[in-house]
Formats: sequence, C-alpha cells, structure tokens
Amino acid sequence: MISVKDITDMMQNPSREDRELIARAYEFSQKAHEGQKRFSGDPYFIHPAQTAQSLAELGMGPKTIAAGLLHDTLEDVDEVSAKKIQEEFGDEILFLVQGVTKLGHVRYKGASRHIESLRKLFVATSQDIRVLIIKLADRLHNMETLQYVPEEKQKRIAQETMEVYAPIAHRLGMGKMTGDLEDLAFPFIDPDAYKETIDLSQDRYKESQVRLDKVYKSLKKELAANGFKNNVKTDYRRKHLYSLWRKLNRKDLDIDRVYDVLALRIVVPTISDCYRVLGIVHSIWRPLPGRIKDYIAFPKPNGYKSIHTTIFTGDGGIAEIQIRTEEMHREAEYGIASHVQYKRKGQKNIPPIDWFKDLIPGLHSEAGADEEEGEVPIWIKDLAEAQTELEAPRELLSHMQTDYFENRIFVFTPRGDVIDLPAGSSPIDFAYQIHTDIGDHVSGAKVNSKFVSLDTTLSNGDIVEIETNKKSLPSRKWLEYAKTSFALRKIRSALQKNKPRR
Ligand code: MN
Repeated sequence: MISVKDITDMMQNPSREDRELIARAYEFSQKAHEGQKRFSGDPYFIHPAQTAQSLAELGMGPKTIAAGLLHDTLEDVDEVSAKKIQEEFGDEILFLVQGVTKLGHVRYKGASRHIESLRKLFVATSQDIRVLIIKLADRLHNMETLQYVPEEKQKRIAQETMEVYAPIAHRLGMGKMTGDLEDLAFPFIDPDAYKETIDLSQDRYKESQVRLDKVYKSLKKELAANGFKNNVKTDYRRKHLYSLWRKLNRKDLDIDRVYDVLALRIVVPTISDCYRVLGIVHSIWRPLPGRIKDYIAFPKPNGYKSIHTTIFTGDGGIAEIQIRTEEMHREAEYGIASHVQYKRKGQKNIPPIDWFKDLIPGLHSEAGADEEEGEVPIWIKDLAEAQTELEAPRELLSHMQTDYFENRIFVFTPRGDVIDLPAGSSPIDFAYQIHTDIGDHVSGAKVNSKFVSLDTTLSNGDIVEIETNKKSLPSRKWLEYAKTSFALRKIRSALQKNKPRR
C-alpha cells in the first residue's frame, strides 16, 4: 500500500503544511472508503492512493494531490460529505473533488459523431485543468486494473479511454499519459492486433537495441571530443505499442519500413546544442533524405518539440535519433502538467508500463536511461522549476473552447447521459430534448436534487431530473420559459391540439 511518505517523497521540498495536508487527506479518504473493495478484491483505498501517487509523479501541487486522494469520497448529492470536505480542506479542494465527481457522471454512448463533443464537453465542464489531470490519473489506474473488471464492461471502458481520454491527454501534450492509456486499452479493444504488433516487433526491438548500442558508443566519443560530456543525457525511447500499430498500418504491416521502433534519445542543455549534436551525428552517419524533422523550428500542433533524424548506421541498418533539451523533454512527457512540476529530490525510479518486460529480458524500458553510468533518468530528475500550482489553466481552456461551446451548456440526466443545450435553456427545453412525450407532460423539475421552478436557467454540469404527470399539459407561460426552437414548436402545437373546443 502506498504510504503518505511515498507520496510526499515525490514532492520537492514539501512544507510542513503540505505534508500535513496530504496526511489528512490520506486519512480522510482511507476512512471514507473503509470496508469498500475494488473488483480485484483489494481495499478500495488503493485506488485513490495510486491516483494521488500518479499526480505526485506528474509533479502536481499539494492541493491537486489531496484532491486526488479525495476524488471518490463524494457523491453528487452527498451534501454532508461535501460540507465535511469544505470544513476540513477548504473551497479549492472541494471544487476540484466536485469537478472530478461530476465528470465521473459523463457517460460515453459510443456514437462516433458525439465523440468530439464528448471530448470538448470534458474540457468545458471541468473548468479547471487540474480537474482533467486528476481525471486522467484516475483513469490510468482504472486501466491498470481493468483485467479485474467484469468482462462485459472492459471493452466499453477501454474504448472510452482510447477515444476520449487518450486524445485529451494528447491534446494537453502529455505524451507519456497518452501512450500509457492507449497501450493499456489496446489489448482489450483489439486483442489480435495487439498480439500481432508484439509478434512483429519483438525481434526488431532486440536488433535495434544492439545496433543503437553500437551507434551510441561511437557517438559518445565524438560528442565528448566536442565538449559534450556530463551535460548530455541519453536513453532509448521505445515506441509505444499502439502508436507502433498505427504506424504499421500506414506501412502495410511491414516492420522493415518502421525505423523508430526503438530510437536513441539525446538530451542537451540548450537549443543551439541540439543543432550542434545534429551536425555531429550527420558528420558520422549519412542521414536518410527527407527524414530530418525539425520540430524545434516547427513544433507539432500539440506543442511537441524535438529534432528527429534517421541515419544509415553503416552495417546495413537504419536508426532514428531524437535530440532535444531537458525542457522539451519534460514538456513532451508531461505536457501541461510539466508547467506545474516540482523539482524532485527523492530519486525514485518510477516503473513505466512495460508490456515487454517479460518477453525480452534486459530490454531498456521506455524511461530507462543509461543505467550503466548510474545516471538517474533525466525525466525523473530536475523535473521543473515551478513551485506553484498551474497558473494559466483558464488560458489553455479558452484555447480549447470553440465559440460553439461558449454558447452551449452541457447538462446531465440522472443516469449521466449528456444533453447539449443552448445557454439560457430551462428544464422545459431539457425535457423536450429528451422526448416530446416527456416535454408535453412536465409537472416539475429538480436540478442537482433540488426542486426548482420551470423557468430556472440551467448551468453547465447541472444534473436535471424531470417529473411527469399524464394530466400535466403545456401552458402558454412555457413559451416564455423555453429557449430552443424545438421546444417552442412542440409547445405551440400542443397548445393548438389541447385548445378547448367550442
Ligand atoms: Mn476513481
């Protein structure tokens, strides 16, 4: 079981207050989940503890980590717990926990045309990017334990992860999270493809490893001769499995046409160092024409920066080399979260997801740096300058919100289905959106479990419940309450139909 110390050890110089906060949240959550079990039979508390641990690894601040511990202690309508959390932990942590709880009610219905809206909905309703990051950490652990979930649910959860969560992580520039989520979902979504990818790539990994070891040896000498010694870090980047599968599909499943199954990664202090190293590499090995990618000058849309080049290794082989600064590396791995990362002093090795570890003993893992030299992997070390929580979540959020979404609200049925309405809509609009029959017989409405009047303006994230009565019929007043043209049309036609005959 993860301890308070395990979590606080991940944080850089946590203050006494920080430690105390984590310890209190830990105890609170442990007590709240007492007696509850995971599908695996483990105590439920393992889950929030693991979520908090992931958040600490991502470098999130104490409030986010505390919210991670508390993220499953609240039900929407559970005002007693909400009040307790507010008293014990304050408004900000309560806000984060409530945000995560609300997102937990969003239900994926699998209709592909809704997927894009669902992704945006997540972003729009979370309001604070930290809520999304907690949700991603929560999903990561749920995916790591998906094998224990009843089989009929596995596929839906995996699909939702692949189509909603991983793309959000990608959009946030969180490369490691994206790859991990995809690789965890992959075997549940397409077991055959998963197996085939492993089969196709196994030998290639071993081969690439041997080849890159040779490349690295020559390169190291040349780099040293050019003044790069202790300021250079290298590791092997193994392509994530699902990402490899996508690439294989573009290459007619021909593994020989994929050059970056394994790549050598070189991390240097400055941008000009990157170009110098590129020059050194090309002075030793001839690059493949058209394969030099300068994502420093031209970053990818999600912000990814690095230089990639593919070289002829001289022994008939081909290898990819990636060059970047530490800052670029951090950003590529953690994206938005890297802006809030703490410098870490406890140099714990964080085991990466390692599908191959049993298949190919001795293979460097994704995160494995040159361990021969006793180096701590750079992605663990010196993680960030920032000591504060993310300062600009709203800025990022506004980038992600299109005009469309600014004028729409998303509300939920009690079952968690999402209903998309224009801003300013009332329970009447909601009712008609669900079904004309429901709209035509509304007798009352509850928003977030409280009775409200039918002219109430709904807000983003509200949970709306409609009461109906066969005898209730639309009244003229409803024309003032309704905002959507659909509801207005239906109300008019009902008024027409129910007009007393003379
Ligand atoms: Mn959870």
